[in-house]
Amino acid sequence: MLTKINGIGFQSTLLSPLDGIIHGFSNRLAGDMENSKENRDTFASRLGLRDSPILPEQVHDNRIQTIDKKSIGIVSGVDGLVSRDTSVAVLAADCAAVLLVDPVAKICAAVHAGWKGTLGGVIGNAVGEMVRIGAEAQRIRVALGPHIGLCCYDVPEDRIGMFEDRFGRDEKMVAKIDGRWHLDIGWANYRLLIEAGLHPDHIDAPPTCTSCQSDTFFSYRKDSKETYGEMMAVIGFQI
Ligand SMILES: [Zn+2]
Repeated sequence: MLTKINGIGFQSTLLSPLDGIIHGFSNRLAGDMENSKENRDTFASRLGLRDSPILPEQVHDNRIQTIDKKSIGIVSGVDGLVSRDTSVAVLAADCAAVLLVDPVAKICAAVHAGWKGTLGGVIGNAVGEMVRIGAEAQRIRVALGPHIGLCCYDVPEDRIGMFEDRFGRDEKMVAKIDGRWHLDIGWANYRLLIEAGLHPDHIDAPPTCTSCQSDTFFSYRKDSKETYGEMMAVIGFQI
């Protein structure tokens, strides 16, 4: 479940109680996070983070990289970052922004999963990378951020075919609404997390739709050029 924080965003009730871990998802009111480092740093500091979040380039692929506090700026060629000592973040507006943490090993990750990354298994790769550096899948907690819902994400039929090839027929993932095919990337990522060995109780995947709730969230599909922005999902350590 997501709870509101000071009008500027949301936190997951699953991740909030974790000791020494700070996280949050910004909303429209927090401003565009893509073109403003100032907005990103302001949001992070209002959450209580004392470092500047590091972001991946986000190229709609499935690669993940582990970084440390010596990293600066934007890490090229990847869609997710893993760290044990610095804040990591991703940007999204309709795509799924996913935050992960092993609260025992103190390893965090932020992942950007659009339809291509989801199909390519970017979230499973993030879990794999976390495990490689010391996390355990059974301990990892995940919060899936606001993303476009099945209700509003209509896609070409060939894309449905690609998802059915990967996941089989799943009525929670694909549906035909008013004659058009719709896809739920949130549910696909949930399936991938279960596949990667995570416990269902450790996955917070609240029902949201950035397009339906466009007064609260930025939406790539719903917004115009003038009103569009991107939201940030960030996770890091209390220092
Ligand atoms: Zn919707």
